[in-house]
Amino acid sequence: MGKLDYIERWVQELKEEGVYRTLPVLEGACDAHIQLEGRDIINLSSNNYLGLANHPRLKDAAKEAIERFGVGAGSVRTIVGNNTLLEKLEDTLATFKEEEAVICFQSGLNCNIGTIQAIVNKGDLIISDALNHASIIDGVRLSKADKAVYRHNDMAHLEEILSTRRKDYQTVLIITDGVFSMDGDLAPLPDIVKLAKQYDALTYVDDAHGSGVLGRSGRGTIDHFGLHGEVDFIIGTLSKAIGVVGGYVATKNPVKEWLLHRARPLLFSTAPPPAATAATIAAVELLLETEAYTKKLWDNARHFKAGLEKLGFDIGISQTPITPVMIGSEAKTMAFSKALLEAGVFVSGIVFPTVPKETGRVRAMVSAAHSIEDLDRAIHVFSEVGKALGVIA
Ligand SMILES: *Cc1c(COP(=O)(O)O)cnc(C)c1O
Repeated sequence: MGKLDYIERWVQELKEEGVYRTLPVLEGACDAHIQLEGRDIINLSSNNYLGLANHPRLKDAAKEAIERFGVGAGSVRTIVGNNTLLEKLEDTLATFKEEEAVICFQSGLNCNIGTIQAIVNKGDLIISDALNHASIIDGVRLSKADKAVYRHNDMAHLEEILSTRRKDYQTVLIITDGVFSMDGDLAPLPDIVKLAKQYDALTYVDDAHGSGVLGRSGRGTIDHFGLHGEVDFIIGTLSKAIGVVGGYVATKNPVKEWLLHRARPLLFSTAPPPAATAATIAAVELLLETEAYTKKLWDNARHFKAGLEKLGFDIGISQTPITPVMIGSEAKTMAFSKALLEAGVFVSGIVFPTVPKETGRVRAMVSAAHSIEDLDRAIHVFSEVGKALGVIA
């Protein structure tokens, strides 16, 4: 009996439950196509919405930054990890987002776990959507505030919590994703902002899947709804549509000053590498110059969705390029995903516990980098596999 036998048992349980998995290993860049086990595969599974992760202009910016700044930041930002690149990135992002100030973190997850606990305290209340991202849930857990959860996008439930509990707290913070990643639906932000005003609450929108996707040139869900200046904390990631890695809060100056003193990922974890920061600046500058990338993303998404709908697939309630294709049971979903891969298309299966039982789906992520030929090929493969597995007639 070894000391770690209990962990081996846990792994064994995963295998018995049929949820054990191994990781796909890419042999090159994450792009419209990926190289897997020596094969060329159409990639419909990344969050690289705009195809920037392997973009020449971003790669050049990263190489230049390495020559001038080296490969590591060397310290947390509050000691000597800060540099002109990070300062420029924050200014460029504030211009892009049309908000007063931006403060960057090493990732979107870091941003949530660092920001939420820093902006509320004991005696405050956080009200969170039931389907919020795991990093929000972790951020909320780390906070000393009381917590309440409202049913997904249910404004009557949110109002019920506000009307019964508002009076007992100093600050109340409503937290929601801007775009929900499993179904691709949007939070009803105009209603949330209205309720927040009515009940004197603050609003916190994690727009990880909205930034780079919705609004003018990807300015995000707040821009899409015309709510500039109305949301107190706007979280974005630099790891998805922006194509690199990092997270940020777009907010007001005093919040930025406070987070520089109290957000633990900024105090206790090293600043991002200069190459990543420089590549991110290049990405945001590109979006400030042209809407071509977001336009192509939406054109591709519409083309792909229309193709699947015509074949009779149920593609859910998505309002964004996220395209869930509903399959049903866990086993059938995994078989569907496996058959797609065998036919040269990578689309990951998503099953319980990530989504409720019997609502298994494969989630297709279209990007601006796909050609119409890529998408038509993928639609053809969906048609063949769908018929073979009895998902469509
Ligand atoms: C992906 C995601 C994150 C995490 O962002 P990273 O930059 O990958 O750490 C946070 N919040 C939401 C809503 C996300 O979808």
